[in-house]
Amino acid sequence: MRRMFLLLSVMSSMVVATTARAEAPSTAPAPGRTALVIHGGAGFVPKDALSEEDTRDIHATLDRALDAGNEVLTSGGAALDAVQAAIRVLEESPRFNAGKGAVFNAVGGHELDASLMEGHTRRAGAVAGVTTVRSPILLARAVMEHSPHVMMAGAGAEAFADTRPDIERVDNSWFDTDHRRRALEQAQQASAAAGGDDAPAYFGTVGAVALDREGHVAAGTSTGGMTNKRFGRVGDAPVIGAGTWADDRCGVSGTGWGEFYIRNAVAHDICARVAYRGDSLAEAADEVVNRIVPDAGGDGGAIALDREGNIAMPFNSGSMFRGWIRPDGSRGTAIHEAD
Ligand code: ASP
Repeated sequence: MRRMFLLLSVMSSMVVATTARAEAPSTAPAPGRTALVIHGGAGFVPKDALSEEDTRDIHATLDRALDAGNEVLTSGGAALDAVQAAIRVLEESPRFNAGKGAVFNAVGGHELDASLMEGHTRRAGAVAGVTTVRSPILLARAVMEHSPHVMMAGAGAEAFADTRPDIERVDNSWFDTDHRRRALEQAQQASAAAGGDDAPAYFGTVGAVALDREGHVAAGTSTGGMTNKRFGRVGDAPVIGAGTWADDRCGVSGTGWGEFYIRNAVAHDICARVAYRGDSLAEAADEVVNRIVPDAGGDGGAIALDREGNIAMPFNSGSMFRGWIRPDGSRGTAIHEAD
């Protein structure tokens, strides 16, 4: 009950944040230069736990997601469309914990969360706990564009999906993969060995932040949440300001132990530091991810992008699947720190 109160009170403060005007006078964005950053989740994957084939496939999939988003940006499309295009590729890959390949909850099913936000308009859409929607990010977009709401959850979100012929539905078992089932078994054994404590087990959430030619920023995040989460648990990914945020100068997508991202309004805090304090994007992202979250007892990472095209990708979890294309066209993908 106390947790629910906490979640609701944090969420209501987010609503205030999302309807607020831009916090500080801004200089005009520099149009023409595009940039994109994506993640496929933070967590701890020892290097020797990934076969060569796994590693190759993860890099290749990140590259395909970058290509999909970049194609939108280089043809003059909107940052929001680029974010959606990149996330769609990652949702369809069983490698990542979003869409196909989403983790199992404690009762052996999948509940998916997603959100996206466009910075200069402060439009946002989110869905939580959906079970039959192949692409939660597309449903979040539909909530934003075809409903008066920002967030819809559970059965109501599915009923809304029923009204959208463009939203593909699948049986919940469509999201199943063997490796996620093994992860559930391991998490449940670890939890039993720890006397029933819910061990945090996350990895593979996906997200993207893009800067388009108009100088606009958008961000989005999609996830199956945390392995062995309780039925009905909602993480940070669909909470605007926690897992996803974009304003007219900065965007963030987070990945990590969601409860701590909600309690610390991580995505909004990074951009607020840029807006209110004039911090550089790198300083702001580093302070929140590498000090505030761990000091509170959590862990994870984030990707952040500002309208100058600066990119930050801090994580404190040992690894984070990630990829980027900078305004000068240089690009890369990485998993561990030293990549
Ligand atoms: N942040 C996600 C959640 O707590 C998990 C993740 O990032 O992998 O639901």
